[in-house]
Amino acid sequence: MSPPVDAVADSPVFPDHADVVVVGGGIVGVSTAYYLAKRGRSVCLLEKGRVAGEQSSRNWGYVRQQGRDEREIPLARESLRLWRELQGELDDDPGFRPTGVLYATRDPRKIEQWSRWVKMAERHGLDSRLLDARQTQALAMDCTIPWIGGLYTASDGRAEPSMAAPAIARAARKAGVSVHQNCAVRGIETSSGRVSSVLTERGEIRTNTVVCAAGAWSSMFCRRHGVDFPQLTSCGSVLRTEPVEAMLDGAISSEIFAMRRRVDGAYTIAHSYWLTYFLEPAWFRYFTRFVPMYLENRKYLKLRINRMFFTQLCWPSRWAFDRPTPFEAVRILDPKPDAAELRRGLEAVRKAYPGLANVKMAYAWAGIIEATPDSIPVISPVGKLPGFYLASGFSGHGFGLGPAAGHLMADLVNGDAPLVDPRPFSYSRLAAPDVH
Ligand SMILES: Cc1cc2nc3c(=O)[nH]c(=O)nc-3n(C[C@H](O)[C@H](O)[C@H](O)COP(=O)(O)OP(=O)(O)OC[C@H]3O[C@@H](n4cnc5c(N)ncnc54)[C@H](O)[C@@H]3O)c2cc1C
Repeated sequence: MSPPVDAVADSPVFPDHADVVVVGGGIVGVSTAYYLAKRGRSVCLLEKGRVAGEQSSRNWGYVRQQGRDEREIPLARESLRLWRELQGELDDDPGFRPTGVLYATRDPRKIEQWSRWVKMAERHGLDSRLLDARQTQALAMDCTIPWIGGLYTASDGRAEPSMAAPAIARAARKAGVSVHQNCAVRGIETSSGRVSSVLTERGEIRTNTVVCAAGAWSSMFCRRHGVDFPQLTSCGSVLRTEPVEAMLDGAISSEIFAMRRRVDGAYTIAHSYWLTYFLEPAWFRYFTRFVPMYLENRKYLKLRINRMFFTQLCWPSRWAFDRPTPFEAVRILDPKPDAAELRRGLEAVRKAYPGLANVKMAYAWAGIIEATPDSIPVISPVGKLPGFYLASGFSGHGFGLGPAAGHLMADLVNGDAPLVDPRPFSYSRLAAPDVH
């Protein structure tokens, strides 16, 4: 049930050397490759499945500064600027539209929370506004739900997950990046303690710099190389409607449903923030570090066990690089959508918008979301393995951050002035002393 994604052609020649090898062709990996190539570095981008096959094509498509943790705001602001820039400079449309993001609520506690958040956002110069019931109603268009208030950021927007990472990957290729899909990176070789090459299913590439942008696979990849990266995953279900007349041109989200206008004239809908946590072996390793996050969000979480748990139990923690690895066994993480959650989301939208009372679901999918214990990504060198960089842990909101995260990673790799202060995204804040 993978959602359709724009295709990206592979480069004709597989390189034996690159200045930088990027592992993972999601929005973060392709943006890193793009911004490095623009600085004249030779870059190879390797993706075990297809560009944007996992989270980067399965998300809601919100590109927002709104509601973010204060540590992320400078990066989110820069990302909005880069999305606008990319929209003008790429040959292909990434689907970015600055149509604003609206949060609406019937819960007075949310209003208090947003009111505190807006004060903080003002200090960062954001245009976010706390809305009363009437203003929320006006922005929610023909919505019949009696919202008591809302939060709105006009400079936020939406982009198209099926188009954005492929558009950036094509531009990266045009800028000289060697792009190879269906090519898993099995591991890294070191020499005198620093990165000297990557080993892939198609052979070795000599390099002294590797950027791991492997999304939900990053923790496992890191651990194989003695690098501890606490990461747990959950699963969210999403649907696309048939094309319909526009009720709302931007994106709205609430406790009841989330809905975003798409460039194909349909809507992307989800049942609010509901997520399923499938038990995974990593839970036993990391759960205590995730307790605060779990408690904060438990209202929206379901815990389940599925076949993947047993599959993962059989995966070795140390695998050989000269034979197929779990990365080749699972080319694309494609979980089954939760039909009951999708029905609830669609019903909520049909009730809320009489003009959409008969709208039909055209397509449904689910996506695995990965998170760090503090819900903030790592965009950082990893000190204990010189030449190894990590850009991962985007905790359910990395699509909007993608361009700036890639730019910042390129800055760090290239030794350039960083786009924003990178310290909040350091690896060392999460690292355990040693992993064996
Ligand atoms: C349902 C859902 C809704 C979301 N909504 C939003 C939203 O509205 N706004 C927002 O900002 N974010 C949202 N997100 C989060 C967002 O999609 C992610 O944070 C973002 O896409 C992460 O990008 P990434 O490049 O880090 O990872 P990914 O897109 O997961 O890419 C990682 C890639 O690495 C590849 N890979 C892994 N291991 C290897 C290997 N060994 N060799 C080669 N390739 C490898 C994988 O195949 C994968 O393609 C949502 C996510 C989901 C699932």
